[in-house]
Amino acid sequence: MEWKNKYPILKDIIDLKPVVWMNPNLQNKGSSSIFSLTRDDMDKAELLWKRFAPFIVKEFPETKQSKGILESPLQRISHMEREISNSFKGEFYLKCDNDLPIAGSIKARGGIYEVLQHAESLAFEAGLLTGGENYEILSSKKFKEFFSQYSIGVGSTGNLGLSIGIISAKLGFNVFVYMSADAKQWKKNLLRQKGATVHEFTGDFSEAISAGRQKTITDPKAYFVDDEDSKHLFLGYSVAALRLEKQLEERNIKVNEKHPLFVYLPCGVGGAPGGITFGLKQVFGDHVHCFFVEPTHSPSVLIGLLTRKMSNVSVQDFGIDNRTEADGLAVGRPSSFATVISDRLVSGIYTIEDNELYKLVALLADSEGIFLEPSATAGLVGPQRIHDYANEKKLDVQNVQNAIHISWATGGALVPEEDMKDFYEKGKSLL
Ligand SMILES: *Cc1c(COP(=O)(O)O)cnc(C)c1O
Repeated sequence: MEWKNKYPILKDIIDLKPVVWMNPNLQNKGSSSIFSLTRDDMDKAELLWKRFAPFIVKEFPETKQSKGILESPLQRISHMEREISNSFKGEFYLKCDNDLPIAGSIKARGGIYEVLQHAESLAFEAGLLTGGENYEILSSKKFKEFFSQYSIGVGSTGNLGLSIGIISAKLGFNVFVYMSADAKQWKKNLLRQKGATVHEFTGDFSEAISAGRQKTITDPKAYFVDDEDSKHLFLGYSVAALRLEKQLEERNIKVNEKHPLFVYLPCGVGGAPGGITFGLKQVFGDHVHCFFVEPTHSPSVLIGLLTRKMSNVSVQDFGIDNRTEADGLAVGRPSSFATVISDRLVSGIYTIEDNELYKLVALLADSEGIFLEPSATAGLVGPQRIHDYANEKKLDVQNVQNAIHISWATGGALVPEEDMKDFYEKGKSLL
């Protein structure tokens, strides 16, 4: 096939071998930006989160301590550092989005943000908000009745549905979640219990999205959260960078030419890792190097970027089955909005096998006492994989000695104990 000649790595990708790909289209900071988004948009998004903080505290008492700001800890994982590598250089941290309040996954950033901004704009249009109010009033009966005239729809493999479902139902919206076949039963149960209507599909993520999109757009009072093409999701995710900047400062960790920051982000449709990468690039410029991680069976963003066909190709076009146990990463076609931006900003992508994810669940649990869902562990081998690759290719992935490595843990807190035990035991048996 012609593609394989043009892109030799494609053979290994199609053969489902784990690969490391470095992005030849990475642009450095000096070059002119082509993006429709700016740092200003990120700052505005952060302000929206702040406006909603009083509402969040009121509705979700577990956020009292953080005053209604949804954020996760940054945690040093030095025991894990020794587990995964003996050639390790630098310092290793986990960004614990598995512990994000409300949704227990990275989707608390994008999904909740998009619903809040939609709610705010509806309330403004109706004159219920005029600016300057304390958003605690959104908890009142008046607002809930107002929002109950409107619907929200979303297509999801599970976690996005959870975040959208939970926040939409709290605001008073009617919410419809279109779940792909791989979505876990406990997620559907939890959503129904929170008041969402769940539609189950026999197809994959893209099919669930198409069906949800079609059903939603026929209703003029309905709004569709489109994971394949959403600026708002992307912006919600990007705010993570501003928060991380503060957390690094608090620890006195400097990011500069001599101390580069390497970030490893599990990737599904590419929105969450793309948004965070966009944000980090705004904050740290060329001193941050972001890598996405995809399952060997679902390398959708990798194929989109490699072939430069972006969201016009799916893994199925290349005979890859998109079957993985990694929740949230079972995505065959990448986001159109995020992928053109990631094309310029992501340093590279590596792929990982499902069995490795289970092993990492067990290793992290034993070494650090932290329990993640399998997909959320994908970034833990980042330092090793990129280091080996750089050595092999004699690349200078500069100053790796002084680097700060962050593995982005994307989910876990809501996983039922029984399921988590199964993940752990499966990992143990594979080690
Ligand atoms: C959604 C998700 C991701 C990736 O986000 P995308 O926007 O789909 O790329 C990673 N990990 C988990 C646990 C997720 O739910």
